[in-house]
Amino acid sequence: MQVSAQKVVSIHYTLKNDNGEVIDSSEGQEPLSYIQGLGNIIPGLENALFGKRIGDRLNVTIPPEEGYGVRDEDLIHSVPKEAFHGVDEIIPGMQFAADTPDGGVQLVTVVQVDEDSVTLDGNHPMSGQTLYFYVEVTEIRDATEEELEHGHVHGPEGHHH
Ligand code: ZN
Repeated sequence: MQVSAQKVVSIHYTLKNDNGEVIDSSEGQEPLSYIQGLGNIIPGLENALFGKRIGDRLNVTIPPEEGYGVRDEDLIHSVPKEAFHGVDEIIPGMQFAADTPDGGVQLVTVVQVDEDSVTLDGNHPMSGQTLYFYVEVTEIRDATEEELEHGHVHGPEGHHH
């Protein structure tokens, strides 16, 4: 069986950045399972895995455009400090889930704290970075109808209801 649309694919992975530092890894954990073709994982990785088989190992270099996006300076803005009432201390690096006008949720990171204002960055923390993945395909199976309906993997290493 090969990786193709609507297959549930399980992978072990190690992700490094430009400096060769490991920034994420499935080592010591269950493999990551996702449904191919649904955008569950970043496009560059999904594309690289297409056509692969169980046991295949690959190194994939993913530019920001196919990863977590290029940085958008328009997503950096200041808000009055009052907006954070109820938060004891605001420190650069803290992350908050902010409501967006279209009803979604965006993760924002505090980048600077001034006397009266806080500067927030709505870019994905890994945007603008080239990603270096080492991936091993550990399992491939057909997705169930329910999984396709929900758009995510069920089962031991997936989503629980
Ligand atoms: Zn579900």
